[in-house]
Amino acid sequence: MTSDVSNENLPGTDRAGQITPSPLPLPPPPPQELYSIVSQVGEGTFGKVYKARNAVTGVHVALKRIRMEAERDGFPVTAMREIKLLQSLRHENIVRLYEMMVSNGNVYMVFEYMDHDLTGILSQTQFSFTDANLKSLCQQMLAGLAYLHHKGVIHRDIKGSNILVNNRGELKLADFGLARFYQKRRRSDYTNRVITLWYRPPELLYGATVYGPEVDMWSAGCIMLELFTKKPVFQGNDEIHQLDVIFKILGTPTTERWPGVTELPWFELVKPKEVIPNHFRGLFQKWMSPAALDLAEQLLDYEPSRRISAVQALDAPYFTQEDPPAVLPTDLSSLEGEWHELETKRERAKKKRKTEGPGQA
Ligand code: ADP
Ligand code: MG
Repeated sequence: MTSDVSNENLPGTDRAGQITPSPLPLPPPPPQELYSIVSQVGEGTFGKVYKARNAVTGVHVALKRIRMEAERDGFPVTAMREIKLLQSLRHENIVRLYEMMVSNGNVYMVFEYMDHDLTGILSQTQFSFTDANLKSLCQQMLAGLAYLHHKGVIHRDIKGSNILVNNRGELKLADFGLARFYQKRRRSDYTNRVITLWYRPPELLYGATVYGPEVDMWSAGCIMLELFTKKPVFQGNDEIHQLDVIFKILGTPTTERWPGVTELPWFELVKPKEVIPNHFRGLFQKWMSPAALDLAEQLLDYEPSRRISAVQALDAPYFTQEDPPAVLPTDLSSLEGEWHELETKRERAKKKRKTEGPGQA
């Protein structure tokens, strides 16, 4: 896909659109570290992400620019955290951070390039995954999470735009801006204002500040359903509405289903007003096989301590017994274009402009 970002607007590039490593005070890096910007693929809270090409090897990379403008105290802590964390991780389902680069006073993280993110792919409704492909994507996501959790890392922002997929059908978890190391034995006190609302587990919505890797498993359950239905399942507008939306599908929590619920800080404040039964199976059986439903249900267990772990999930009958076996979605190379959340947003804006016609506000 071609870019509508002109090189002139790009920071840290010369006229030819080449990013040149800063010359001093470090000795000049070897010439193979020359990247030219191809297009912009991401626009995030912490900076822009570009697709770039190594001028010598021709290999594509993603450059994530670290925003320094807002920082009064030098290099941003959040970026430093993300870098340190990523440097300690090496797994086929975690995006590879190749190196860091400085160019014209800008700091970039240099990542392996991934053709799409899940939000981008799922927005392409003309494209469909087979059941075997969907199983592979679930399996790869869970393998990435199992590795992270084994390393003592909670991701805390699992959602479609942070899950990358390349044309070989490989899935990798990305965006470790909110991730934290956790102590396996001693559970720490964290903020509950993490994880994008639609993927946030109910215990965080009820104010829990002591939690562990099971918060990622809820998000993984949301992603699993979204893979099948192509739409985020729990689309709340604010914290309270988010709980309502979850209850409408999974039913209101009882102390049997969720023994710890009454202990949570905001339980009295946001107590469900009516009793709603669990509609989960009825709603999703038209999309999913029985074993897939079983797994999704265990990922979306209200009681955090009972929620299935990533390692256990990989051993679920959905993967080990039920047909078809997982197959990498290599067909993705037939999907025209490269789809990230940003391109999807642009495409939507373009369509909207078209239908509204010229001259309209
Ligand atoms: P943010 O903190 O801004 O959300 P992300 O790391 O999630 O930062 O990057 C923003 C977007 O850029 C992602 O949603 C994805 O579409 C794109 N992106 C990030 N990393 C890569 C990569 N390695 N390859 C291709 N696209 C990427
Ligand atoms: Mg992100």
